[in-house]
Amino acid sequence: MMSILLTGGAGYIGSHIAVELLTLGKEVVIFDNLSNSSEKVLDRIKEITGKSPKFYKGDLRDREDLDHVFKNENIESVIHLAGLKAVGESVRKPIEYYDNNIGGTTILLEVMRDNGVKKIIFSSSATVYGDNTNVPLKESYEVGKPSNPYGWSKWFIEQILQDLYVSDPSWHIVIFRYFNPVGAHPSGLIGEDPKGIPNNLTPYITQVAIGKLEKLGIFGDDYDTKDGTGVRDYIHIVDLAKGHIAGLSKLEEEGINVYNLGTGKGSSVLEVKDAYEKAVGNKIPYEIKERRPGDLAEAYCDASKAKEELGWEAKFDIDQAAVDAWNWQSINPDGY
Ligand code: NAD
Ligand code: UDP
Repeated sequence: MMSILLTGGAGYIGSHIAVELLTLGKEVVIFDNLSNSSEKVLDRIKEITGKSPKFYKGDLRDREDLDHVFKNENIESVIHLAGLKAVGESVRKPIEYYDNNIGGTTILLEVMRDNGVKKIIFSSSATVYGDNTNVPLKESYEVGKPSNPYGWSKWFIEQILQDLYVSDPSWHIVIFRYFNPVGAHPSGLIGEDPKGIPNNLTPYITQVAIGKLEKLGIFGDDYDTKDGTGVRDYIHIVDLAKGHIAGLSKLEEEGINVYNLGTGKGSSVLEVKDAYEKAVGNKIPYEIKERRPGDLAEAYCDASKAKEELGWEAKFDIDQAAVDAWNWQSINPDGY
């Protein structure tokens, strides 16, 4: 049987995709260097699905490690999630980010080509819209100037994939621009497990709720938005994972296609805080702080292209994400 290779499959998003794929009876191979994840996730995936993904520990930039996987396994397509993703860290360590994300991707593409595998889904990000603030964001818009090296790395990789397709139209490429993935699997067995103090809003909130952090800092309440706080498009991780299942059917066609994966709705920081307070059953202490450099007032998508072409749309709202994230955090106060 043919397998789907998930690079970075031990991470937050990849583990949820693995669960959806295994549940559908697909074979899954995970390739991950565990730089931002734990091997324990593999047991959790088995606990949920009754099946184990195959696991190879390795780094994308190690051509031989990667080639070994393609020689050993019958890979039909790749979902390429592996990469570094911390915006602030990317400003301090641009070389590491470009090497890991872009260098890792070009090696992956080379090894895929050499092994005759030409189907890839790539995890891009809403960050490629950069300073294009014309919400709701549509795939047809010009991408903007990202405000950090992480964003540029996603932008460049999208361009590399476009160029690759021009050079060889027998590739099948789907680019997903994720908006803000939140929540956890309803089992509470897998979820987001950031190392150190979380950079992102929702893991910060659940860590305040569980008492690991004192209070939430809200980065600015004087934006031109509904309540002055930043507005984002928060998408439940299970919906996001299911988007990839829909993407696999598109991958049967030759071509390169870009889709936003979001809900199409914007929620403010205060609305997110309120949703999590409801789920937790307690107030989340907070204070208003300065704006965070590089942040936009609003970023949410037009989600209609994925609906029309993939038959996929998000089903869960921020309230459900809050319930599932809190369930995960309560069962696993220290992560994996
Ligand atoms: P994550 O850090 O949980 O998962 C990424 C995985 O890739 C980790 O398990 C890490 O160990 C692995 N990895 C990193 N570099 C590697 C390398 N060189 N070789 C092998 N494995 C490597 O992050 P995530 O939230 O699951 O994100 C997955 C992808 O989606 C990333 O490419 C990320 O940039 C993108 N994305 C994430 C978000 C988000 O908010 N979570 C938003 C938009 C896009
Ligand atoms: N945010 C905040 N406090 C935090 C983290 C984030 O107020 O501790 C805000 C941030 O300014 C933005 C929203 O929450 O408006 C989402 O930020 P996050 O870093 O989670 O995702 P981004 O959209 O920046 O990728």
